[in-house]
This record gives sequence, structure tokens and C-alpha cells, in this order.
Amino acid sequence: MDDTALLTCPYCFESIEVYIDPQSEGELIRDCDVCCRPWSLQVSRGVDGELLIRANRAQ
Ligand SMILES: [Zn+2]
Repeated sequence: MDDTALLTCPYCFESIEVYIDPQSEGELIRDCDVCCRPWSLQVSRGVDGELLIRANRAQ
């Protein structure tokens, strides 16, 4: 299963590939690899197990 997702940072707008733990669901906090500001990730899964992730500013 591919548990990485390509997200766009809500601060610096870089595209960043993030690894999501297979057990993870709900809200995660992760720092941007480029600008180090905190993301709030909303992780959910589709009916076929696909990752659905939204990245928002954590503050
Ligand atoms: Zn960033």
C-alpha cells in the first residue's frame, strides 16, 4: 500500500511528499520540510483504502 501523499504546504506552497503511518487517521501535526511551519493534516481513507489528506495551517 502506498502511504505517501503529495501535499502543498499552506504556507510556502512547496509540493512535499509526506509519509503517513498506515494506522494513522484523524488529525496529525507535521512540520513542513521546507519552511518548518506546522501543518494540521486531516487524514481519512476512501472506501478502497486510498488516502485522503487535507493540509491546513495549524495555527
Ligand atoms: Zn512550507
